[in-house]
Amino acid sequence: MKCLLASAAAVSIVASLAAGPTYASEECPGNPDALGTSRVVAVDPATLPRVGFMQYKEMVELKPKEVILTFDDGPLTKTTSAVLETLRKECVKATFFIVGRMAKAYPAMLRQVAAEGHSIATHSVTHPLIFPKQSFDKGKKEIDDGFTIVNEILAQDGRQAAPWFRFPGLGRTAAFEKYLAERGIVAMSADFPIDDWLHRSADQVYNIALARLEANGKGMFLMHDIQPSTVAMLPRLLRTLKERGYKVVHMVPLGTPNVEVAQAETRVRVPSMAKQPATSAPPLSQPVMPMPVTAPPIPKPANPVLPESAAPAGPRADAGAAAASDPVLTSSVPLASQELLGRDNIVPLRRDEMPFSVFWPSQVMQDLRVLR
Ligand SMILES: [Zn+2]
Repeated sequence: MKCLLASAAAVSIVASLAAGPTYASEECPGNPDALGTSRVVAVDPATLPRVGFMQYKEMVELKPKEVILTFDDGPLTKTTSAVLETLRKECVKATFFIVGRMAKAYPAMLRQVAAEGHSIATHSVTHPLIFPKQSFDKGKKEIDDGFTIVNEILAQDGRQAAPWFRFPGLGRTAAFEKYLAERGIVAMSADFPIDDWLHRSADQVYNIALARLEANGKGMFLMHDIQPSTVAMLPRLLRTLKERGYKVVHMVPLGTPNVEVAQAETRVRVPSMAKQPATSAPPLSQPVMPMPVTAPPIPKPANPVLPESAAPAGPRADAGAAAASDPVLTSSVPLASQELLGRDNIVPLRRDEMPFSVFWPSQVMQDLRVLR
């Protein structure tokens, strides 16, 4: 415990070195009707070592209609810059879970995300598809090196990543969670995904995002800033949040000056979307979740785990990069899709079994069963 507190304290001191983000709920240049960031909370690893109702019983306490925006797998210049532009227009702050090799490829993009006041957390180095199945030493290295890479880049501007880690594919184990906790790092899951890695249209992703939020009434979104569908639908989603009275909460590291510390909220049951009253569902122009009874054939990634050598060796020109042509994402299946396509992890779902129509790794399936 002493060790945990000591390392949490060290993290806090470091976190306070990060430039204090500005929060513009009061004023948004050029957009008087902006969604804005309504509240900022610091996440204390000592009281919230694990966060997100998708997998855990604890979550950052949110009031009704409060949402937290999180984006995984970037940075990728073309898409991430578009996401930033949308967030900027609405004066909302989010958290980005950075993949180390993407940061190496696009360091300028990472620095820009941080410079705009968003929180930076990490998401491994190579985004291994099945995190729990690798050796403990390998996993530790993925975690540690992810922070090292990101922090070396952020240090150029006197910043540092928040001590938060999201497992690739949400593939967690107790041993890795313990490792994180001992280092004062929060295992950050989420409350609901928006299925943007499943090659759905922007309209479908928008409908799924909104339906899941409305079903829960509040919560933390898991989105991907490398997905064109998310880029395309994000302006509309944020407008709708504003129209429907939702508020955006921004998480920051403990030690950020003048910020209240987040309370922990505990829940033992994740609401099933199938059990929501019909009146709580938003108007939908198409089905939210085409739900097969058995798993449809899913194309196997030709190269599911990209070798280290697939990542560029040094800094690259950022301008004009796109997922489709990017050597970092050489597989035909984007990173965010790969994480759910592990050979042993395709699980057929039934409508009455799961709140979400996605094929989660078996560990995530177990998590959700326990929590329900
Ligand atoms: Zn990911």
